[in-house]
Amino acid sequence: MASNLSFILNKPNSVTFAERPVPTLTSPHDVLVAINYTGICGSDVHYWVHGAIGHFVVKDPMVLGHESAGTVVSVGSGVTTLKAGDRVALEPGYPCRRCEACLGGTYNLCPDMVFAATPPYDGTLTGFWRAPADFCYKLPPNVSLQEGALIEPLAVGVHIVKQARVKPGQSVVVMGAGPVGLLCAAVARAFGATKVVSVDIVPEKLEFAKGYAATHTYLSQRVSAEENAKALIAAADLGAGADAVIDASGAEPSIQAALHVVRTGGTYVQGGMGKADITFPIMALCLKEVTARGSFRYGSGDYKLAIELVAAGRVDVKKLVDGVVAFKDAEEAFKKVKEGKVIKILIAGPNEKVEGALDTTVDEKAAAAAPAVGSTGCC
Ligand SMILES: [Zn+2]
Ligand SMILES: [Zn+2]
Repeated sequence: MASNLSFILNKPNSVTFAERPVPTLTSPHDVLVAINYTGICGSDVHYWVHGAIGHFVVKDPMVLGHESAGTVVSVGSGVTTLKAGDRVALEPGYPCRRCEACLGGTYNLCPDMVFAATPPYDGTLTGFWRAPADFCYKLPPNVSLQEGALIEPLAVGVHIVKQARVKPGQSVVVMGAGPVGLLCAAVARAFGATKVVSVDIVPEKLEFAKGYAATHTYLSQRVSAEENAKALIAAADLGAGADAVIDASGAEPSIQAALHVVRTGGTYVQGGMGKADITFPIMALCLKEVTARGSFRYGSGDYKLAIELVAAGRVDVKKLVDGVVAFKDAEEAFKKVKEGKVIKILIAGPNEKVEGALDTTVDEKAAAAAPAVGSTGCC
């Protein structure tokens, strides 16, 4: 069998490549997938630099990566929906399926979640990945494997916008124009929002946002949250405030401004993760009777909708990809993301050419050639 080369974090800022045993199917409902493309997430970089996120601490060497697409190589006896050769987007978190959260339809809140590249569990920057078949989503013919690797962050955006209950004709403000913020803006447009305002502190990011999904942009100023909110509302002509405000930044000043931008009776959703505790304008929340919701990962139907939005041409995820690097250059890709030089960078392989199963009908040929990393200076 082909290589099961894996990209492993040993301790902060120390990574190695090693061959790991190829996983075997443990349930008749499992499939084995050869990993073709993996995107790098902020959380991967955070583990690489700091070795921990909150109470998740990397104690033993851990394979990184969780934004992957690949090709099915074998299926268990109970699998009826997939076969070898199918191209799939991988949903990388596996809930227990038995607890109250799981049975209640919010499996993303399962306390026993096994999530890729979240200690102690290994991630998907590896040769072969074993997964339950129902967490592998077959890509339609017009969706490439590269796009497949971007379904994970898009599903995050889908979940956030669902939490915001965005309706046609509404105005939505998105704090932060990183990958998830950009995708939230695109999903909000797809949900029918007619005014979508991207907000950031980096002008280049806003320039990209404007050409991507935002109808308006606003460059945050170093002034009070109230002043920023006032200027934002004026700049985007939001009248009495935005119907929904999404924070995709996790930054305290953005969150504070968000509560002053949302209209009376509007909705505020926290998607970004930054400091665990902040100063929060709770009086604005109360007086305006704002509905506030959290958003964590993705749940039932989110992957399906994310794929549908890409297949239907409603969300363009390809535009976010600055380049594709070969598996051996994975660390280089992490450096680029850390430096903020790219929006999304994909790591190819290590099995980009498994038994001719790779779909070369779309744009995969170019990807297999692993062009050099580009930089649009958008992040
Ligand atoms: Zn991610
Ligand atoms: Zn559960």
